[in-house]
Amino acid sequence: MALTRKHWQPPFDTWPRWMCPICQAGTLTVAKDGVKSTETGPSAKAREHESWDPHWIESQFVATFVCANGECGEVVVCCGKSTFDVTFDYDHLGNIEQGWQEVFIPSFFSPPLHFFLIPPECPDEVAQEISRAFAAAWSDLGSAANRTRSAVEALLTERKVPKTTINKNRKRVGIKLHDRIVRFRSQDAEGAAYLEAVKWLGNTGSHSAQELSLDDILDGFEVFEHALHHIYVQRDRVIKRIAKEMTRRKGRPKPRRKSKLRKN
Ligand SMILES: [Zn+2]
Repeated sequence: MALTRKHWQPPFDTWPRWMCPICQAGTLTVAKDGVKSTETGPSAKAREHESWDPHWIESQFVATFVCANGECGEVVVCCGKSTFDVTFDYDHLGNIEQGWQEVFIPSFFSPPLHFFLIPPECPDEVAQEISRAFAAAWSDLGSAANRTRSAVEALLTERKVPKTTINKNRKRVGIKLHDRIVRFRSQDAEGAAYLEAVKWLGNTGSHSAQELSLDDILDGFEVFEHALHHIYVQRDRVIKRIAKEMTRRKGRPKPRRKSKLRKN
């Protein structure tokens, strides 16, 4: 399923329909009186300035959401900064009316939101790393990129791609992520191509976090989601189909196809 970009690109003037990170089925709705903003001291002081307008307002907010799935009812708390954006509307005479609307820039969610649904077939150690990347994405893009890279490392370890090797001097040394991905190609060339794309994001995260954009992170999440489906979900379905077929045949050998004889 494609990632809905606008759900992850603040500032928000309305709250997106985020998926509950616990049941991964219900959507989150704002609790009654769930959003509280408090204007900062410098912002309140700035109101005395002659050219002040609501653009200058800066607040810290706390928002509480509840999962709409009655069987879940999980509570998610979010905090961050809010400001005001100008809005335009028409009055009853058709004249343009200017207004102001509070917009929210979250920096933290507890528990962290999932930018995409982690498939149940995904091993825990990989899911944990990607959840950490989700948590960091709101406040620290470099850290989100590094966590995504760690998720790739965890996935390769789970797929039994070695982490270390013996070098010429008979010393045990670590294998670079790129070389691990190259080794994974013999097991799954398509999966390795997805992981290589995500790896570049990690490289940027380590060396020049300021060059990263939220869009880069969202691209990385999107490719990683695809990789998880390719590596775990599709493979799982194939194994289940083979197992079912074997059980159905109760150990009898697979009937061989008769080769067609060419007429003429
Ligand atoms: Zn829920």
